[in-house]
Amino acid sequence: MNAGSDDGSARRFDRQQRFVGIGHDGQARLSAAQVLVVGCGALGGSLAQQLVRIGVGRLVLVDRDVVEWTNLPRQVLFTEAHAGAGAPKALAAAESLAAIGGPTRIDARSAHVDGDNLDELARGADLVLDGTDNLATRYLLNDWCVKHSVPWIYAGVVGASGLVLPVLPGRGACLACLFPEPPPAEHLPTCDTAGVVLPAVQAVTALQAGLAMRWLASDDAGRAAFEPWLVEVDAWRAEQRRVRATRDPECRTCVRREFRHLELGGERAAVVLCGRNTVQIRPARRAERLDFERVLANVGNSAKALERRASFARFDVEGFRVTLFADGRALIEGTDDPGRARAVYDRWIGT
Ligand SMILES: [Zn+2]
Repeated sequence: MNAGSDDGSARRFDRQQRFVGIGHDGQARLSAAQVLVVGCGALGGSLAQQLVRIGVGRLVLVDRDVVEWTNLPRQVLFTEAHAGAGAPKALAAAESLAAIGGPTRIDARSAHVDGDNLDELARGADLVLDGTDNLATRYLLNDWCVKHSVPWIYAGVVGASGLVLPVLPGRGACLACLFPEPPPAEHLPTCDTAGVVLPAVQAVTALQAGLAMRWLASDDAGRAAFEPWLVEVDAWRAEQRRVRATRDPECRTCVRREFRHLELGGERAAVVLCGRNTVQIRPARRAERLDFERVLANVGNSAKALERRASFARFDVEGFRVTLFADGRALIEGTDDPGRARAVYDRWIGT
């Protein structure tokens, strides 16, 4: 007997298919689509949840961070159990998404996205969605997607407002057309200084997921009718505004095709994470499989607490909390000074 007729799963997408913009053909396109979501915190978690619920075929999720208590008011895939355990976000997200069920194949990776691994992460993607919280990764995504002619949807949110921009290579503006250079970090309000609230996250990701769903479910004619606007939304004042995003005829990225951000690759070995009092350190060379036992034996007598899981290890040493992943990447909590974090890494982990 067909399980679908028993448990109702055959009817799962009925209401969605009745919508005139989707139909049976649109649902079939959604179920054949592959999407890369970069980041699975506030924006990325909400996006991933929507993509699984609407039934995209394959979802690749990547995030470098671990769950903490301050995430819970706006990061919809995480629970107190995840925060208490300091679980890697990608793995915690995959667990919550699996509970939703449905046909989506989910590939969750706990990793830092850079020019070296983006080819592999984005291979076969029909669409890339920005669920990050930092400009360095957004410019990297813009470079990669323009270079490979893959559409992507930028989003940013701070306080109660946000921006959404679909970038369709060859049509309309790319991120660098609108903002040629990332502004200096100290000039930007961040989640750290201005806070962020859940309704703003949901307003932004509703627009982002709506555009994603329409793009993926549309045939060629539907896609040709797509107009790339920059949308501003404010969830506190209930305001929304569209601005035509025009292409810069001198754009370094989409006109001159210089992809500087892709070439930075492994140079940015130490990254301060926004608002986390945490620095991420990556080894000079990505490890195939880090020898956890060697590191834990090293640190054993000096560490306050030790925890060992299949995919990561954690210990407290010198007043810092270190979370170490199998590829040699580490998060050093308790400082925003890359030099101090690097010293802790070199002393206890080495390469
Ligand atoms: Zn451009």
